[in-house]
Amino acid sequence: MAENDNKMEKVVALCKRRGFVFQGSDIYGGLAGTWDFGPLGVALNNNIKKEWWKMFVEDREDMYGLDAAIVMNAKVWQASGHTGAGFADPLVEDLETKERYRADHLLKDNGIDADGMTLEEITALIQEKGIKSPKGNELSEARQFNLMFESRVGATSGEEGKVYLRPETAQGIFVNFKNVIDSMHPKMPFGIAQVGKAFRNEIAPREFLFRVREFEQMEIEYFVKPEEWEAQFEVWRENLWKWFDHLGLSRANVQEYEVPENDLAHYSRRTIDFEYNFPGKGFDELAGFAYRTDHDLNSHMKASGIDLRYTESDGTKFIPHVLEPSFGVGRAITAVLCEAYKEDEMGGEVRTYLALPKHLAPFRVMVSPLLKNKEELVDKAREVYTLLKRAFPNVAWDDNGNVGKRYRRQDEIGTPYCITIDFETLGQEDPSLKDTVTVRDRDTGEQKRVAIALLTSVL
Ligand code: ATP
Repeated sequence: MAENDNKMEKVVALCKRRGFVFQGSDIYGGLAGTWDFGPLGVALNNNIKKEWWKMFVEDREDMYGLDAAIVMNAKVWQASGHTGAGFADPLVEDLETKERYRADHLLKDNGIDADGMTLEEITALIQEKGIKSPKGNELSEARQFNLMFESRVGATSGEEGKVYLRPETAQGIFVNFKNVIDSMHPKMPFGIAQVGKAFRNEIAPREFLFRVREFEQMEIEYFVKPEEWEAQFEVWRENLWKWFDHLGLSRANVQEYEVPENDLAHYSRRTIDFEYNFPGKGFDELAGFAYRTDHDLNSHMKASGIDLRYTESDGTKFIPHVLEPSFGVGRAITAVLCEAYKEDEMGGEVRTYLALPKHLAPFRVMVSPLLKNKEELVDKAREVYTLLKRAFPNVAWDDNGNVGKRYRRQDEIGTPYCITIDFETLGQEDPSLKDTVTVRDRDTGEQKRVAIALLTSVL
């Protein structure tokens, strides 16, 4: 289908044109790996996070919310293993231009899977296969590059004031584990959820929101008895599928990838990546689901000297094991937009529209008067707008251009319904149609007349 040609480029262009996503620091030539959400992007972003919070926190009795600080004591990252090789990517440098590349990505581009390889093996393969940089030059030996952004707190210099911007929200949960059990007294099993920014100094940020240096995560640490992890793993696996259904992603475009043992993160004994079929790229990680054993609580208990065991009602103490579903908001937004992007023909013209689920669309409905210079129409439309605003916070008002143009604009930003107030609404043509409006459906373009009194239930 034509809509799939360069679909990613079309989605990126639409995002800029319609105020979803802009390049970060745009007027200064941008800053690689950063993107800014515009008026519609922030609405979509917030809707995804709101739905996630509702599904995984508000609608459950076993989940507790948290919002920890981004800058944490450096000891957190030493204990979790992030300051070591476990949180580093293999880097090679173009010996001429000094540009840096992910060695595993260069190998992948040459059809070689570098998962689990040592730096020496990577270097040897690059030499053996004669792999050059994308600019055609010789490459350096591979070395580890830690992905954490460093900063300093206060006026101290040297190692003393060194801190890191968190590369994942998860550790904020582990270091608050004791605070949550002491204040909330949760029963096993239970989870702690957090949504927030994470930072990774990616060697080569690329592919729109897919690999960036500043992004948001939605993470859950679900604490279980050690012997129950396998049963709970299956329950959460299903929960992840329910979430992707809720995002409107078709099951054909989502798949599970069982991460092989030699490529598991330093903290994990089993991980399934949930992958999305990104246009032009193919299946790649949308979210991760890891069994982290008791690695984190254990490490923090040893490093801090604080008892992080859970006490059962009979007094038994143990370190809970943890299941971690980890979602990136930016990758979810990209998948949702790619899934929703459609082209068809309407009224003899090619039309672009976003078939976004109602609960995610930046606007639920748009209201407009047929003509903007007829006071009676505008007054009535304002009345309907105010009425709908009480039911839905995200109602758009559009009186620019003609009605056809307004519909196309709303189609392109994914507004499920458009309502037009015309002379029939005023009862001027057919008294039986007084106080009815035209409701146009985004996906089919069909229009029907609906009584104003029934609007909120119809929408
Ligand atoms: P990748 O292998 O693609 O680098 P990862 O396995 O390191 O990802 P995790 O540490 O499992 O990623 O992070 C959980 C989620 O956070 C990912 O599934 C993804 O949605 C998101 N995420 C991680 N790194 C980035 C990034 N640089 N840009 C955007 N999202 C990211």
